[in-house]
Amino acid sequence: MAKRDYYEVLGVSKSADEKEIKKAYRKVAMKFHPDRNPDDKSAEEKFKEAAEAYEVLSDPDKKARYDRFGHAGMGQGGFGGGSMNMEDIFSQFGDIFGDMGGSPFESFFGGGRSRSRGRGQKGANLRIKVALTLEEVENGVTKKIKVKKQVSCNSCNGSGAKDSNSVQNCGTCGGSGYVRQVKSTFLGQMQTTTVCPGCSGSGQSITAKCPSCKGIGSNLDHETIELEIPAGVEDGMQLSMRGKGNAGKQGGPNGDLLINIEVKNHEHFSRDGMNIVYDLFLNFADAALGTSVEVPTLGGKVKIKVPPGTQAGKIFRLRSKGLPSVQAYGKGDQLINVNIWTPKELNSEERELMEKLKEMPNFKPNPGKSEKGFFERMKDYFN
Ligand SMILES: [Zn+2]
Ligand SMILES: [Zn+2]
Repeated sequence: MAKRDYYEVLGVSKSADEKEIKKAYRKVAMKFHPDRNPDDKSAEEKFKEAAEAYEVLSDPDKKARYDRFGHAGMGQGGFGGGSMNMEDIFSQFGDIFGDMGGSPFESFFGGGRSRSRGRGQKGANLRIKVALTLEEVENGVTKKIKVKKQVSCNSCNGSGAKDSNSVQNCGTCGGSGYVRQVKSTFLGQMQTTTVCPGCSGSGQSITAKCPSCKGIGSNLDHETIELEIPAGVEDGMQLSMRGKGNAGKQGGPNGDLLINIEVKNHEHFSRDGMNIVYDLFLNFADAALGTSVEVPTLGGKVKIKVPPGTQAGKIFRLRSKGLPSVQAYGKGDQLINVNIWTPKELNSEERELMEKLKEMPNFKPNPGKSEKGFFERMKDYFN
């Protein structure tokens, strides 16, 4: 299904500022909140849609990416603006409604907390390392990776209970998942609402544990996860996939999968941001006479012309033969750094020729205005 424009979803203009976006989201979220629209699937969809739009438009980086690339820029599989589950949305509410005072949900939705509280314990994040070749970085890649992790228990659907008869309302909180406490502070008596210590907010207590997971709600197992890695990632970057980490305890939300990117060394190229650098070694005669040589690029071999009189340190630029960027349009260049190869050994014939050449009038170093020194070359390189 095609996604609706995020601005349209929230009913704001593209020039709306942070405050307006937040306000608009509150309005839409309250209208379609599941507590106000019980068992209404279309309201739930709209509620989720609004949360997703808000997640992107409230984050300056994601918003900038969305403004430039639209939904295509948000990636798939949970990078950036992927699909959110209800637990995520509710946990986000704390921030959105928090400044409206007190315990926000109760003031808005009365006693309707039962659906919105965080059940169980969130699963731990899972960290993996993925090593990529420069070719994979150039095009982006989908990798299937088998990871060992806590997977939601099949026998109890993650609840940790033996069956539906072995779940009761928590005796400490009576099923609400929250307890009120009255604290004495220097301002006087303050009433606070905290997560029930008896049930960690689930509102339930389990009288008989699931035999398969021993009440935890998850088991250590393997899962094959498809990672969609966008083009242009860099060594040391971290991507995250929401909800792909360890399963939560007793129905709690899953942790996230954190992917640390490592870029392997390439046999021909080194990388400088979006540019790739190739060292070309020319023999002295070719540099003097001019020649054409084949050089490797990420997209296969390319022939380049080397004009007569090419100096060591000359940089040739192959436009757009570099790498894309995760954030920006376009591609970097391939820079070809010319090195002149000096023979390390000479036979007697070569030595004789060299001795002769040495005395020739054009073989004395005589740099003119057109020969650039180190700093000028560096300037060229960075421009
Ligand atoms: Zn409780
Ligand atoms: Zn179980």
